[in-house]
Amino acid sequence: MSVQREQLEADVLIVGAGPAGLSCALHLANLIQKHNASGAKPELSAENIYVLEKGREIGAHQLSGAILNPAALRELVPDFEKSAPLDTPVTDSASLFFSKSDSFRFPITPPPFQNKGNYVVSLNKLTKWLGGLVEKTGVNLFTQFGGAQLIYEREGIAGVITEDKGLDKNGKPKDNYTPGYELRAKVTVLAEGTRGSLTKDLVARKNLGNINPQSYGLGIKELWEVQPGKVAPGYVAHTMGWPVSTDMYGGGWIYGLTGNRVSIGLVIALEYADPQFDPHAAFQTWKTHPVLKRMLDGGKIVRYGAKTLPYGGWYAMPRNYVDGGLIVGDSGSFLDSQRLKGIHLAMKSGMLAAETIFEALVAGDTSAAKLSAYKQKIDQSYIRKELRAVRNFHQSFQHGFLGGFFHAGLQMLTGGRGLIDPMRAHAGHEAYRKINGRPAPERFQGDGKLTFDRLTDVYHSGTRHDEDQPCHLRVADTNVCATKCVTEYGNPCQYFCPAAVYEMAQEKGETRLKINPANCVHCKTCDIADPYQIITWVVPEGGGGPNYEGM
Ligand code: SF4
Repeated sequence: MSVQREQLEADVLIVGAGPAGLSCALHLANLIQKHNASGAKPELSAENIYVLEKGREIGAHQLSGAILNPAALRELVPDFEKSAPLDTPVTDSASLFFSKSDSFRFPITPPPFQNKGNYVVSLNKLTKWLGGLVEKTGVNLFTQFGGAQLIYEREGIAGVITEDKGLDKNGKPKDNYTPGYELRAKVTVLAEGTRGSLTKDLVARKNLGNINPQSYGLGIKELWEVQPGKVAPGYVAHTMGWPVSTDMYGGGWIYGLTGNRVSIGLVIALEYADPQFDPHAAFQTWKTHPVLKRMLDGGKIVRYGAKTLPYGGWYAMPRNYVDGGLIVGDSGSFLDSQRLKGIHLAMKSGMLAAETIFEALVAGDTSAAKLSAYKQKIDQSYIRKELRAVRNFHQSFQHGFLGGFFHAGLQMLTGGRGLIDPMRAHAGHEAYRKINGRPAPERFQGDGKLTFDRLTDVYHSGTRHDEDQPCHLRVADTNVCATKCVTEYGNPCQYFCPAAVYEMAQEKGETRLKINPANCVHCKTCDIADPYQIITWVVPEGGGGPNYEGM
């Protein structure tokens, strides 16, 4: 079908309104305002900055623990403490070791888990607030629009085509059909978050990858309202040990918020050996530990969510500038996997991108050569200092927890170098071992009070999609699922998806893959962890997905 698309032109197009994208927009608008006020030429306008957000509103898809290091926010909004929705300052940082029935608090909290000066926040609320500041500058924020395809030009990019709206399941136009817009820009900023679908395409097509492939963790979170006095606001604990086995990398968090709410979650590296391991079930099992059970007793779940995070750091960072394009935030590997913090780095990367773009617009030159100033700015900032110091950290744990501790200890003594530098990593899906005829494990059911099955949790994520639209989870060859994968790996998609999207169903005596895309919480795990790399996540119709209100 040949499609007539409406064309719009902007100076700058930012794809994704998370902390990185919004910081980029706000900082750039502020720079433009100062530039114009000084009478300098050429005159620029914040109205020529467009921001696209696929969620139903700003913040709807924002999920994190979340502890905020306010370093970048302080630079961006110097008086942020007056109006930012900072739930509570961190008052206590604990490191706990869990055995199945007991726990032990380390007498000294290791430096990466000390959080003095940081805040426990709701990322959903923080980005909504930032979005409000951005809107006031005149920047155009478009919610319910996703970037479906990049427009490739020169040796880089020149904008995006947004998703078509109003197509039915078979891709046929319905009455409300509206073709996606062709949005062209002098600079396009990819701020899509972890495993961005456009970023993935750009990195592969232009060969922008670094020496290591990106590594990922899957974080699964619930927000609970608990009985008064169960958790102090500002209490922050990270847990190690049970139920995460020593050949896996992962741990839990407990963050006390105001209003008797607590954020709890478990994050597991997507590089485990058992293809039928179920991260959602592991999280539910973790909640049955006596520490969690006591805390949650008499309380109720408020929200559920899941999201992947990029662990790969410095040596997995793609080249982040091309002709007409920059990559920021989680899409660009700006996350400190040792401290499990990325919000401040995402924001700072967005701000450095803004400074680069501003200089490029003034010079009238948006080539890769001009935009490479972004990389220089990163190298001169605290981003490099923080990420270089942990450049080999996550790779150390790819062969088990104990070896990881040994390497990580040496790295701390040698400024990140350790025994091997650079330490290479493998893609997580390569770690799967074949099931060799082992029967499928029983699925976790939950008791409906403390623990839940995946569908109950999806209900608590506020997820919705129009069911009559093309499936946004593209499996290149479903025969692989029904023939090869079923015997080799036992269809891991049924286990790693934290939203029960994939199931192997029996139909007319045949086993086939059934996909329930309406449940998808946009965590991207399937795009990352499929053993044959044949699942591609693409943007569904804008406005679909979870609603992480208050998360
Ligand atoms: Fe995550 Fe994929 Fe499941 Fe969606 S379908 S929730 S992206 S694993």
